[in-house]
Amino acid sequence: MSKPDSNQLPALFLSTVSKEYAPKDVSTSLRVENESEKIRQMLLGKQKSMQKTIGTAGFSCLMCGKCCERAEDDNSVYILPAEIEKIESKGFSRSDFILPLLPDFYNDSNDISSSFQYSTFTETLRALSEQIDEHGRIHTFGWMLQRKEDGSCIFLSESKKCLIYDIRPALCHTYPFFADENGVSKCECEGLESVSRTEPDLTNELTKALQNRVVADQADYIQTSAGIKEYYEQFTFNSECGIAIFEENLKKNVVSFVVYDGTGVYAAEIQLK
Ligand code: SF4
Repeated sequence: MSKPDSNQLPALFLSTVSKEYAPKDVSTSLRVENESEKIRQMLLGKQKSMQKTIGTAGFSCLMCGKCCERAEDDNSVYILPAEIEKIESKGFSRSDFILPLLPDFYNDSNDISSSFQYSTFTETLRALSEQIDEHGRIHTFGWMLQRKEDGSCIFLSESKKCLIYDIRPALCHTYPFFADENGVSKCECEGLESVSRTEPDLTNELTKALQNRVVADQADYIQTSAGIKEYYEQFTFNSECGIAIFEENLKKNVVSFVVYDGTGVYAAEIQLK
């Protein structure tokens, strides 16, 4: 599939990442435990319908690697702190594979005949002005995997194999299925309906992985919210001076971030090459 030029991402690296703040709230840990148990029970009640949706989807992974590339769909991989640690334990350094989570923006066009385009990386950053503080730093929530200049995942090899397949993030493991309190939904994938029924073992594996993912996402959300409540509110956003500092940094190919995740608040900086 040919891609428009703006699908290209800039070459960049995460030059610094350091912890700024860690909320110490015992009530947060208790809330995480209680909520996790509630969600686990709720998902157990939905287990049969989840298995049915996955089983009848006729899914088999074609190992095409398309979900790891940036074609006409957002291939951002959201990654939780525990998953980052797991990948680090295999000898990778986090600054080589994570980035502050940024949205993929599309160029607005009412002309449906015009070709699909992503906004450029700089346009994407500027669209986040409401999240830029008085020091010119973009506040973001969570992390994503880095992508190469062609938009494909940093862990996708030339032969389209995942370099961390056994420990890939839950979002990759459960693709093309998503789950929430309402059950399972699917996104586009050529592996769907490629067989008459999803293999029973795979159906069970995906159901369990989806349930674990919902519980882990919710726990991270509660923990992240605690950090936001105690730290985020001290800043002023979208001020003239903050935007001016952000633009000055951009001229030097530097973008600064404050990143909130379930383990605390981090200062991070990326350098565009
Ligand atoms: S981590 Fe592996 S499975 Fe996930 S997007 Fe990257 S290459 Fe694909």
